[in-house]
Amino acid sequence: MAKIGPAIVVHGGAWNIPPEQWPPHRDGCLRAARVGYAELKRDVSALDAVVVVVCDLEDDPTFDAGVGSVLNRDGYPELDSGIMDGAELRFGGVVGIRRFANPIRIARAVLEDDRLCLLSGEGAEIFARERGFQECDPEALILEPERAAWERHRSGNFDLKEKFESSNDTAGAVALDGEGNLAAGNSTGGTSFKHPGRVGDSALPGCGIYADNRYGACCCTGWGEQIMRLVLAKGVVDDLERGATPEKAARSALARLNRFESGRGGLIILTPTGSAVALFNTPRMAWASIGPGGERVPE
Ligand code: ASP
Repeated sequence: MAKIGPAIVVHGGAWNIPPEQWPPHRDGCLRAARVGYAELKRDVSALDAVVVVVCDLEDDPTFDAGVGSVLNRDGYPELDSGIMDGAELRFGGVVGIRRFANPIRIARAVLEDDRLCLLSGEGAEIFARERGFQECDPEALILEPERAAWERHRSGNFDLKEKFESSNDTAGAVALDGEGNLAAGNSTGGTSFKHPGRVGDSALPGCGIYADNRYGACCCTGWGEQIMRLVLAKGVVDDLERGATPEKAARSALARLNRFESGRGGLIILTPTGSAVALFNTPRMAWASIGPGGERVPE
């Protein structure tokens, strides 16, 4: 059987990205997509490519993931990350990470342990230490713009709805390798000024990510509580299973999200035949895709 060429779609958050922040968002997504595509071209698995891409985005201070994540109400980042393998429906996620800069790597290690799917906080960090991941000073994840934003939130009336118009840079990717395997991964600092311990959709299976080789892979980004309530990523893959085109599945998902006044966000989809879609109901979403048809980025 002819091999389908590899393909990758990356997102860097859906929100009202202002003009001066658009180039680093667009360029960061394209850079990460190129890194991932090069990996896929040399026969790295979709799962491994997603880890490499999400690490790249975690290391880029532009995005609300890894270094440069937003701070919670108490002034420190808590990171969530999840990854799913569409071949075996294996899943790994970690939430509430404070001392590791690349939570996607820990999520991947959770996925490899068939006794586990999701670890939180202290237990997730114990697991990471046991697996030999390099710990960092929690302060090392905090950059000056995020500290300044936290100071502003603290001294004013913080309104998350307004905030969703103004900053929300979760990062993620879906990939298809030459063997027909799909994978999806997300990494985030979550929402600005969030309640300590708050967990969003990004690292939860079916909510922020889902992948099944037979039908497709999906990553969501946006206001996590609403995405969670709708189990949005699994809904997309269910629609693909029922025969919807990826465009139709994406539009239906956003229609479900629109039911909530605060249902703001976007999603990326990749199918087993390499069809890629990025759709959002926010003013902008940072994304990039590369596949047999070449590179695509939004204007
Ligand atoms: N969905 C993430 C959360 O609610 C935020 C985002 O996608 O930017 O934690």
